[in-house]
Amino acid sequence: MKRISIFGATGSIGQSTLDLIGRRMDDFQVVVLTGGANIAQLAGDALKFRPELVVTAYPEKMDDLRAALEGSGIECAAGQDALVEAATRPADWIMSAIVGVAGLAPGLKALEQGTTLALANKESLVTAGPLLLDTARKHGATILPVDSEHSAIFQGLVGEEMSAVERIIITASGGAFRDWPIEDLRNATCAQASTHPNWDMGQRITIDSASMFNKALEVIETKEFFGCDPKMIEVLVHPESLIHALVGFNDGALMAHVGAPDMRHAIGYALNWPDRAHLPVERLDLAAIGRMTFRAPDDTRYPALRLAREVMETGGLSGAVLNGAKERALDHFIAGRIRFTDMADLVAGALEQLSRRNTLHLPVTLDNVAQLDHLARKAADQIAMDLVT
Ligand code: NAD
Ligand code: MG
Repeated sequence: MKRISIFGATGSIGQSTLDLIGRRMDDFQVVVLTGGANIAQLAGDALKFRPELVVTAYPEKMDDLRAALEGSGIECAAGQDALVEAATRPADWIMSAIVGVAGLAPGLKALEQGTTLALANKESLVTAGPLLLDTARKHGATILPVDSEHSAIFQGLVGEEMSAVERIIITASGGAFRDWPIEDLRNATCAQASTHPNWDMGQRITIDSASMFNKALEVIETKEFFGCDPKMIEVLVHPESLIHALVGFNDGALMAHVGAPDMRHAIGYALNWPDRAHLPVERLDLAAIGRMTFRAPDDTRYPALRLAREVMETGGLSGAVLNGAKERALDHFIAGRIRFTDMADLVAGALEQLSRRNTLHLPVTLDNVAQLDHLARKAADQIAMDLVT
């Protein structure tokens, strides 16, 4: 029996992970489940999967959680410290699927236990890549990528030497506005940005797909995880989202990972790694699909990609600034305070301000990441205020 913990169990990735585990209950024992405010979901899953411990991120939800689990014998806890503590419970495989920089501290604590961390939380690598990888190395822990593009690259590299890799191409659907005239983007509404052509995901990541900030995070994630030269990383717009990534080798071969857009593929690969096992995902009928198309991304349409390049060149804590400022820009856009196209300006402005204050090259520690995240959000708020007034 594999002992499994899921951080962010109530989210989209967490639920897909539980879907896979629920189909093979005899193979897995669930140790910890964590969630946020959705206590009905968290408690319902706890009663089904019988973990040792359930944690909500919010202390004010503790009473609800305790009441929902009354008489079940399942322990419960609440708050950020309890989340981090929960990562010390012995487990063979831990899913990191909390959204945002809040996923970093529990993920690091899990790595300190020498476990295998299935990493969906891309923000961890973007904000603190070197810290995460050093911690894993020091404690003999393994990180398995769960973002679909990174899982695809990882699969393309099985049995290969990194020295034979010339380029890594990650694909992007192009998001909701890929076919819009560029001049219309400034008037795009939140409702329009919140529908994804291919993937069914939460609202924030869907808007991040339309702006390509999701791809910007993924480009940085690629550089951090695979340790490759940023110049080797390319983004390719592929509207059908059937190829998730390609690895290009020094003999000219391109190995593509092709699959239905279903996150259970990447999650299942990490769950069964280093083996493969049957997964309940759609089998593609390529003859019926007929064709796949590709185009180059346009930096004018997607300034986020240019910002990702800037962050990879700068290194240090610039990823934490990009991520923090992007989160606030998204809040302001969703609240209707700024335009779709202002989001990139907020992020660019925050990077510039914090670079001028010489804060980007402090050591990459948990405290400094939190500090820069905070400063980036403040800078983004200020720029948003200036735009509005
Ligand atoms: P989600 O919003 O659906 O779920 C997030 C989970 O984190 C929930 O369980 C929520 O309760 C919990 N959470 C939220 N804020 C928290 C906080 N402050 N402290 C502790 N827990 C908190 O998100 P998701 O779509 O499942 O994405 C999870 C992660 O996986 C993200 O980093 C995302 O970028 C990444 N990812 C998601 C997809 C996808 O298809 N959804 C694909 C690739 C990568
Ligand atoms: Mg992805």
